[in-house]
Amino acid sequence: MDLGLRGTRVLVTAASKGLGAATARQFSLEGASVVISSRDLEKLQNTAANIVAESSNPVFTHVADVTDPEAIKRLVRNTVEMLGGLDVLVTNAGGPPAGGFDDFDMIAWEQAIRLNFLSNVSLIQAALPHLRKSQRAAILTITSVAAKQPIANLTLSNAIRPAVIGLTKTLSQELGPQGIRVNSILPGTTVTERITELMGARAQKNGTTIEEETAKAAQATPLQRLGTPEEFANTAVFLCSPAAGFITGVALAVDGGTIQATM
Ligand code: NAP
Repeated sequence: MDLGLRGTRVLVTAASKGLGAATARQFSLEGASVVISSRDLEKLQNTAANIVAESSNPVFTHVADVTDPEAIKRLVRNTVEMLGGLDVLVTNAGGPPAGGFDDFDMIAWEQAIRLNFLSNVSLIQAALPHLRKSQRAAILTITSVAAKQPIANLTLSNAIRPAVIGLTKTLSQELGPQGIRVNSILPGTTVTERITELMGARAQKNGTTIEEETAKAAQATPLQRLGTPEEFANTAVFLCSPAAGFITGVALAVDGGTIQATM
């Protein structure tokens, strides 16, 4: 199926590795022009070079910390200059630290809210004037299965992700009449460096190994394995494409069946 993404202008944040990088790669393979952003220029440039070697389509880089609203404004301004406009915004960020309620003081809560909630707000605020000029505008927020089903020892994520789903749904209602679609993906456990870190934290807490914790996570998934970044990226690119033109306000789990609720 042709997803209709050729020539689409895309910004993916937190895309030097992991789910963001896989998403940027898949957009590029579909013929989109992409800007990738994170805090580390060298990692970004390596990732961009790898993607371009595969796709032969333009991939630009811009360093920005998503917790800094002024840096986000510069990122979006520069993206629009580099791409000549903006059609698709993917608001990814790094994950918050693992831990239970007693592990975090107010500063840690505020940092996590800036990283995993307010980053979406500042990115969407900065991008909207440009998305309003596009005929194929889409926004994708990236959250977690934690938005619907709490994960042990991930208190910050469990508390903050549902707010992003609330924002996504609200924006889909407000921006639908302007032709802008807004969706979210809830990844389940997917093989990236973040998961190695989280499995390391679990291993330390439970006196086990990373391999044992990874095997337990796979067993707890109905499909009996972890997801791949490519499986996540295929879904992300589809949701942002004209092929999904009648889909908005959706919070779609890409989780191998992890979320147990019926609806
Ligand atoms: P990852 O492999 O750790 O990659 C995180 C990315 O975020 C990197 O590119 C990092 O780049 C960037 N980043 C971190 N902090 C940033 C900041 N303040 N500003 C800009 N960029 C920043 O993580 P991932 O597995 O791809 O996860 C992506 C998101 O999905 C996270 O929020 C994670 O919690 C969530 N998620 C992941 C899974 C999973 O199984 N992988 C499951 C559920 C939810 P630099 O270091 O270069 O800045």
